[in-house]
Amino acid sequence: MDIGLLLSRRTFAAEKASPQQKPSTFYHPPSTFFNMFNLTEEHLAVQQAARDFAQNELKPGVIERDSKGIYPYEQVKKMGELGFLGMMVSPEYGGGGMDTLSYVLAMEEISKVDNSCSVIMSVNNSLVCWGLLLYGNEEQKRKYLPKLVTGEWIGSFCLSEPEAGSDATSQRTTAVDMGDYYLLNGTKNWITNGATSKLHLVMAQTHPEKMHRGINVLIVDADSPGVTIGAKEDKLGIRSSDTTSIMYNDVKVPKANRIGEDGFGFKFAMKTLSGGRIGIASQALGIAAGAYELSVAYAKERSAFGKPISQHQAIAFKIADMATDIEAARLLVHRAAVMKDQGMDYTQAAAMAKVFASEVAMRHTVEAVQIHGGYGFVKEYHVERLMRDAKITQIYEGTSEVQRIVISRNVLNGELYVPMVQAMETV
Ligand SMILES: Cc1cc2nc3c(=O)[nH]c(=O)nc-3n(C[C@H](O)[C@H](O)[C@H](O)COP(=O)(O)OP(=O)(O)OC[C@H]3O[C@@H](n4cnc5c(N)ncnc54)[C@H](O)[C@@H]3O)c2cc1C
Repeated sequence: MDIGLLLSRRTFAAEKASPQQKPSTFYHPPSTFFNMFNLTEEHLAVQQAARDFAQNELKPGVIERDSKGIYPYEQVKKMGELGFLGMMVSPEYGGGGMDTLSYVLAMEEISKVDNSCSVIMSVNNSLVCWGLLLYGNEEQKRKYLPKLVTGEWIGSFCLSEPEAGSDATSQRTTAVDMGDYYLLNGTKNWITNGATSKLHLVMAQTHPEKMHRGINVLIVDADSPGVTIGAKEDKLGIRSSDTTSIMYNDVKVPKANRIGEDGFGFKFAMKTLSGGRIGIASQALGIAAGAYELSVAYAKERSAFGKPISQHQAIAFKIADMATDIEAARLLVHRAAVMKDQGMDYTQAAAMAKVFASEVAMRHTVEAVQIHGGYGFVKEYHVERLMRDAKITQIYEGTSEVQRIVISRNVLNGELYVPMVQAMETV
C-alpha cells in the first residue's frame, strides 16, 4: 500500500480527536500548525502517516536495534510498501509523485524516532532516486527506478574515498574507458547502505588531466565480479544503518551505465548533494523536534522541590530556546524544499537549512539530556540516542564548514573564490 492509497483512506487524527485525545500540545496537528508554506491536506496526511508509522512501528525495537547495530530489514521493507522510499519519483516509474515538501514532512516525523531508517530513506530518495530521475536516460529510469521506489532494491551513493571527503575533487577511483565498457578500480569509504544496496552510483575519474571535469558517474550492480564490501562500521550514532567501505577491483561497467555526458560525474554529485542536504536538514530537524517533544513531556511529569521541573525557570527557558530554534529550523527546511519544488536555485537555501538545523539538533539534544537528568543518560528515555544521532548531521553530505563555504561563496558573489571552492562550483 502506498502513501497515496493510505491518504485516500484516512482522516486526520487531529480532526477526529477530542482535545483530550490529541497527540499533545507540542506536536503540531493540522489544526494548530502555522501553515506558512500552504501545506495542503495531502501534505498533512503524509505528515500524519509518517508520524503514525514512526511512533507505532519504528519506536518499538529502536533501542535494541541501535544498541546491537541490527539493520532494520523489516522496517525498511515496510517503508518501501508505504511509499516512503521513492516519494518524489514520478508515478510513471512507480513513485509517489510527491513534492519535496511532502518528503521533508515525512523525514521529520521518521527522524524523531529512528535515524538509521531516516538516513536509509534519505539516501535512497534524494541521492539515488532523485539523481536518476533528474539525470538518467529513459532506459536507465525504466530499468532501475521501479525497483528502487519499492525497496526491492536499495541504492547507495559512492563519492567519498579514504583521501577524498570534503574535497571530493580528489577522486582516486578510476574508470578507464575500454571502448564499450569502463574498468573500475578503487575504494569508496563511509558508504551508507554499503552492504545492503544492490545499485551503487559510483563517481570515478576517467580523465585525470581534466581534474573534476574528468569524473564520471556509473551505475554499478553490487553483484558484479570484483565488487567487495568492507565490514560494517561501528558508529557513534545511526548505529543500525550499514556504513561500509566498498572496493572495486577491475569491475567491468557497461558504457550504457554512465549517467549523462562523459565527464558529468562531479556536476551530478554536486547537484544531487544539494537536494540531499534538504533531506539531511529535515533529518536534523526531526532529531531536534523529537528530543524537544520528549523533553516537554518529561519536564511536565518530573517533579523536584515540590513542583514539576517545567515550572523552574531554568528548565522552562531551555524549552523556550528549543521551541524557538526548532521553528526557525523548520522554516529554513520548508523554504529550501519549496524553492526546490518551484524550480528555483536552492543551493544556498539547502546549505543554510542543513547547517542551521544540524547545529540546532546538536545543541538541543544535549539540552534534552540535561532536562532528563540522570534518566537522560540511559537508553530507555531515547534522548541519549538522539544526541548521538545528531552529530552525524553536521558531518555527512557536506560538513558544517563546507556548508559555510557554499553560503559565503553565494553571499559574496564569487569574490572569495579559491581553487577548492571553485571546484565545488554551483553547476
Ligand atoms: C556515517 C556516515 C555515513 C556516510 N555516508 C556517505 C555516503 O553514503 N556516501 C558518501 O559518498 N559519503 C558518505 N559519508 C562521508 C561523508 O560525506 C564525509 O565524511 C564528509 O564529507 C567529510 O569528509 P571527511 O570525513 O573526509 O573529512 P575531511 O574532509 O577530512 O574533513 C575533516 C575536517 O576538516 C574540515 N575541512 C575540510 N576542508 C575544509 C575547508 N576547505 N575549510 C574548512 N574546513 C575544512 C571539515 O569540515 C572537517 O571538520 C558518510 C560518512 C559517515 C561518517
